[in-house]
Amino acid sequence: MTAEIICVGTEILLGNIVNTNAAYLAEKLAASGLDCYYQTVVGDNAERLAGVLKCAMERSDVILLSGGLGPTEDDLTKETVAKVCGKKLSVDDHSMERIAEFFAVRDIQPTENNWKQAMVPEGAKVLDNDNGTAPGIILETEKNRIVLLPGPPAELIPMFEQQVISYLDALTPGVICSRMVKLCGVSESQVEDTLKDLIDGQTNPTIATYAKTGEVHIRVTASGENAKAAGKTIKPIVKELKSRFGGDIYSTREETTLEMAVADLLLANDLTVTTAESCTGGMIAARIINVPGVSECYKAGLVTYSNKAKRKFLGVRKSTLDKYGAVSSKTAGEMAKGAALLLKADVAVAVTGIAGPDGGTEEKPVGLVYIGCCVKGELTVKEYHFSGTRSQIREATTSAALILMRS
Ligand code: ATP
Ligand code: MG
Repeated sequence: MTAEIICVGTEILLGNIVNTNAAYLAEKLAASGLDCYYQTVVGDNAERLAGVLKCAMERSDVILLSGGLGPTEDDLTKETVAKVCGKKLSVDDHSMERIAEFFAVRDIQPTENNWKQAMVPEGAKVLDNDNGTAPGIILETEKNRIVLLPGPPAELIPMFEQQVISYLDALTPGVICSRMVKLCGVSESQVEDTLKDLIDGQTNPTIATYAKTGEVHIRVTASGENAKAAGKTIKPIVKELKSRFGGDIYSTREETTLEMAVADLLLANDLTVTTAESCTGGMIAARIINVPGVSECYKAGLVTYSNKAKRKFLGVRKSTLDKYGAVSSKTAGEMAKGAALLLKADVAVAVTGIAGPDGGTEEKPVGLVYIGCCVKGELTVKEYHFSGTRSQIREATTSAALILMRS
């Protein structure tokens, strides 16, 4: 079965909002075993939406639409879909009651146009909206299954998870399962090179790689009669990935982030950790503190941006700064040692670098970063050369610091 996604909204076309609904829905379609060949964005314009919809109905079985279910004049998805499918709109009593309840609970007076949202194309199935007033709609024609979803992600996602996934799963025989293998400290091209023989000629399971800052994620997806059969197809590939990538793999769980893996490692070894950051300005600390329960191992950290602060709080020597400069291997090392001492931590990570856009020289260009990691008095300092904007360099530095802490 084939599917496609149509996102309605002039603000998406203009670039005012990012089309996160398309990314979310595409991932879910793949997980349901539906082949999604097209994504379209169209503005709040009935004629153009009708054109896009007719085209989609010709070439795809399932069509997911997001946006334009609101109460205002420019929300015209439902009206347009009904017209194209030759269906009349009529009041749905259940939706009417839910809208009344939504406003009553919040003690708000609905406006006249709110009731427009209770109008549903004849023969359609209504999807309850627990987080807003616009119900979702599933409309089936002879050839197509058309699913209308509200635009706000906080409304679309719960509605989709609770009421649409099971509907889509029932359309495709068998199940699709996937496992994520997460690596850090290797490039996507290195990964692809190592996997070339597995990726070439793959059918079931399939292997796809995704590059993130400092990380590569490999998704292994398989279809099978049931979850057990699909799992059995995935297992040997995951085993093979483990043997090829070994220690570069930090997790085989979808929900585990790099910072979680680092925190797990520290907690498992009963180690406390601290951070001393210059160009990242607290980003490493923020990533670590993303992990719930990390207070067991992370007590405090420092942002020491100026040379004066590096000297005063971390005890970086004046002679080091004068001779080697703030962005140097020596300074990073002294920062890490100083932080470990000051905050009595088993592990201290320290970064100093040139995030740009200014401040680079021929000798020390923008993107030059030193990261020091001191583990129970044993110091490692690494030099990095990142590229990109200031924020990309800071993000890459943050990931590299976490990777260094893990190794
Ligand atoms: P509302 O009742 O809020 O008007 P709606 O179903 O009519 O809902 P839209 O008017 O199209 O939806 O969009 C409302 C808001 O939802 C947008 O301003 C935006 O914040 C968010 N939104 C809409 N479409 C998308 C999308 N494709 N990706 C991410 N967010 C979106
Ligand atoms: Mg709207």
